[in-house]
Amino acid sequence: MTDHVAWEGKCRRCGRCCFEKIDFNGAIYYTNEPCAMLDLDTRLCTVYRERHERRPGCMALTPEMLQRGILPADCPYVEDITDYRAPCLYEPD
Ligand code: SF4
Repeated sequence: MTDHVAWEGKCRRCGRCCFEKIDFNGAIYYTNEPCAMLDLDTRLCTVYRERHERRPGCMALTPEMLQRGILPADCPYVEDITDYRAPCLYEPD
């Protein structure tokens, strides 16, 4: 198994990281708004191979990026990070 395959294989395909987020002074909040490219039935990206071209704001999950707090706390990519700060859900009044 290549490193790339092992890395991709960690994803459980829950799709929760594919909801729009808000960066408020460095704190990340989730919204209930899914990315337009997310299939809500399969929870998969419909343009996965070209997602960075189709959605320039789509961030690659690199080891460095994981520290930014964009993934839910139970995501396999971050569940072992000590003191990981997961996003909260943004709920406007
Ligand atoms: S939150 Fe984690 S497990 Fe779920 S789709 Fe995103 S990367 Fe995969």
